[in-house]
Amino acid sequence: MDRPKVVKYTPPECVEDYPLGAFQAGHLVQKNAGWRVFRPVIDHDKCIGCLRCFLVCPDGVIDKSGEKLEIDYDFCKGCGVCAYECKVNAIRMVKEGEEADE
Ligand code: SF4
Ligand code: SF4
Repeated sequence: MDRPKVVKYTPPECVEDYPLGAFQAGHLVQKNAGWRVFRPVIDHDKCIGCLRCFLVCPDGVIDKSGEKLEIDYDFCKGCGVCAYECKVNAIRMVKEGEEADE
């Protein structure tokens, strides 16, 4: 893949001077969660389906298309924002390598 061209920075004078188009839009194609320390685990009995976790996940890895929410652990960073924001404590952060008692 071609790398973006490195150019000397000069302050833009108008909007056309901004370096738009330097990167091609796309999405992550490589798994990138291997260094996660904790992972979120959803207790589906407690979940009330408010979708707050879905809305706040900075990585957009919570899938709401099925009957139950699912977390894509290939991309979840384990940041814990979803667990923090869940008002009914339906998400626990579990240390990687430990059983979740799901
Ligand atoms: S924030 Fe909690 S209750 Fe709301 S959908 Fe997510 S897990 Fe369920
Ligand atoms: S831990 Fe962070 S990245 Fe993973 S599902 Fe929750 S909010 Fe998203």
